Amino acid sequence: MFTLSDDKYITAFSAEAVPVLRVPDGATVAVKTQDCYMNNLRAENDPRGAAKGPAVGCNPATGPIFIEDAMPGDTLACDILSIDAGEYASMRISSRAGFMRDRVTEPIVRCVPLRDGRAELAGVSMPLDPMIGVIGVAPERGAIDTATPGAHGGNMDARLITAGTTLYLPVHHEGALLALGDVHAKMGDGEMCICGLECPATVTLRVRVIRGRQEKWPVLKGTDGSFSILASGATLDEAAKLAADGMLDFLARRAAVDVNELILLMSLICHLEVCQVVDPLITARVRLEGGAMPELDF
Ligand code: CA
Ligand code: CA
Repeated sequence: MFTLSDDKYITAFSAEAVPVLRVPDGATVAVKTQDCYMNNLRAENDPRGAAKGPAVGCNPATGPIFIEDAMPGDTLACDILSIDAGEYASMRISSRAGFMRDRVTEPIVRCVPLRDGRAELAGVSMPLDPMIGVIGVAPERGAIDTATPGAHGGNMDARLITAGTTLYLPVHHEGALLALGDVHAKMGDGEMCICGLECPATVTLRVRVIRGRQEKWPVLKGTDGSFSILASGATLDEAAKLAADGMLDFLARRAAVDVNELILLMSLICHLEVCQVVDPLITARVRLEGGAMPELDF
């Protein structure tokens, strides 16, 4: 197994980023990740938590990892084998950012211990459900900062990217240049306050190259066999339509069913859901129910 330490990170996905690890197709890699605040917010009500922007960190993504044999036009399948959250998580809110910023009356930084698979906040105990906030490859063109989601993946903050799932990313550059970080020990759909339980973590994943075909957007195969198209746009409306179009294209390439029939079917067995509404672009997903079309695979 390969390992990668969390001091090797990028703050933008780009074909220009210099790989810090080369692995063969099929390799398993244990990747340590910093939290989105670069592990800086460890004290309750740290005043830096109220600062706007990167005062306490910049959403570092560990990598990039060069996957041998991954070429433009391919898909990189990432089997998420495990996500081990650290021993604490941080959160912050302020009136400057987030979907609920207009309702925030004072900035808060919370440091929450993670013990026995649970966390407690405001007297409410809850089970953890670790997920990866940032995971992506070099985008087709230019550089995209690790705070922004897109067709390359990035800061999608999709709650469903958990252990046991497979994420399919479109490869646009040799080696793919995979990087990941921003693990949340728990997050609700929408990520309304602007963060989840932000924690350092170790993510173990296997990378596989699927040659000669790809989808436009990242695709997630869920633990229940569902398939989600993860699309990002300037507004929730735009992201939702992009995800729906992505699902129709995904289905049309795989099912010998007339496109109009597929649109009827989508209205029954596909679900339009929200990943996050707080990043520079909004991310929505359309999820095909697990088991609804059992013959269908990536
Ligand atoms: Ca995030
Ligand atoms: Ca985050």
